[in-house]
Amino acid sequence: MNRSDIVVVGGGPAGMASALIAARQGYNVALVAPSGTFIDSDDRTTALMMPGIDMLKDLGAWPELEAEATPLRTMRIVDGTRRLIRAPTVTFEAPEVGEEAFGYNLVNRALNTALHHVIEQTPAIRCIDSMASSASFGPDEATVALANGETLHTKLIIAADGVNSLLREAAGIGTRKWTYPQTAVVLTFAHSRDHGFTSTEFHMESGPFAQVPMRGKRSSLVWVVEPTEAERIAALEPETLAGMIERRMQSMLGRVSGVSKPQCWPLSGMIAHRFAAERLMLAGQTAHIFPPIGAQGLNLSMRDIADLGKCLGAAGTDPGAAGVTARYDRLRRADVASRTGTVDLLNRSLLTGFLPVQFARAAGLGLLAAVPPLRNIVMREGMAPGAGLRSLFKRRGPFRETDPAESSRSSSRTEAP
Ligand SMILES: Cc1cc2nc3c(=O)[nH]c(=O)nc-3n(C[C@H](O)[C@H](O)[C@H](O)COP(=O)(O)OP(=O)(O)OC[C@H]3O[C@@H](n4cnc5c(N)ncnc54)[C@H](O)[C@@H]3O)c2cc1C
Repeated sequence: MNRSDIVVVGGGPAGMASALIAARQGYNVALVAPSGTFIDSDDRTTALMMPGIDMLKDLGAWPELEAEATPLRTMRIVDGTRRLIRAPTVTFEAPEVGEEAFGYNLVNRALNTALHHVIEQTPAIRCIDSMASSASFGPDEATVALANGETLHTKLIIAADGVNSLLREAAGIGTRKWTYPQTAVVLTFAHSRDHGFTSTEFHMESGPFAQVPMRGKRSSLVWVVEPTEAERIAALEPETLAGMIERRMQSMLGRVSGVSKPQCWPLSGMIAHRFAAERLMLAGQTAHIFPPIGAQGLNLSMRDIADLGKCLGAAGTDPGAAGVTARYDRLRRADVASRTGTVDLLNRSLLTGFLPVQFARAAGLGLLAAVPPLRNIVMREGMAPGAGLRSLFKRRGPFRETDPAESSRSSSRTEAP
């Protein structure tokens, strides 16, 4: 019989990290991931905040990634709109929260390759190069049928098979989905001036234009525009595009050149009605999707993985027992709902021409620029939910030393159910 304690479906970063955290808790794991998707062919980079980086360290993927990763020391928001009410520039510095960096910018291919290498070195994980084609869930076990003809029997399925998840559907978990009149144009470019490990996000009428530093004098760009404008930008000659980027950035990074081929990502949102069901847990984009604003997507997924670790660490011999899946569902609800709501609100506040909303946005950013303690709370909150408010009641110190969410993660394996 093809049996394992846990079956993880999906070979993206959330699936691979889920398989590793489950193996770290002593379970044997089957990871179902069709070949070619382990090492994603996408050209994107991902800004991962320190809690996510700490998770990669825990999983053993960091040593391979470190040389390629670029620290994010300063984050700046510039109002690039031509509106009547404009916000002042807000600059966040990592030393203000006792950190050298808020996080690191990682090349997606390097991230996926590093996770895959750790998986290859983990005997408790069996990788299966196939697609899941159906699944069923019962009180004692779940089964997954694969396109290669195998049927896997398990106590728990972790679904990380992405936005159109077959597993989520098989379990009857509904979703709330919505779209935005926006597409993200993603590319990388070289520049003549040092970026100084600073990421600058220009807020434009169509959405953000976010530069994130990479190694050397190079940066990645997520440029959110209307879908027809995205098509036009993607078809431009590299030199014309370089000139456009340089003008948009007000020549902050000097001369722009070496623009990579743009990739277009239509923006949408989705939140699952539940994050677990009988013998099933959802992780990553299977559970939640929102626009790449403020670099939150994979950061939220890493917190799914941290909570998975907590629940599995306390589960004992049956990782799919009703109490374990219910606890995971409970743990994820507030975090996923609040991040999805915040990102949605931020995005819509940029798009609207409604003056009172523009005024509120500008006033909020103005307060952040002028009031350091408020900025401090927002910076901590951006790195880990609840950390900003908790810091109000504590003596301020380095972010991670004062953050109980972090210490509870590292002690999760011994936590009582
Ligand atoms: C333009 C852009 C920029 C972004 N920037 C950031 C950022 O800076 N910071 C950040 O935190 N997040 C960012 N994100 C979000 C981040 O990229 C995603 O959250 C992350 O890549 C999703 O990983 P995942 O593993 O959940 O899903 P996916 O990468 O979609 O993985 C799903 C996997 O499941 C596989 N699969 C599907 N169906 C089956 C099946 N039936 N059987 C087996 N396997 C199956 C697929 O092949 C795929 O490999 C960005 C997103 C976009 C679009």
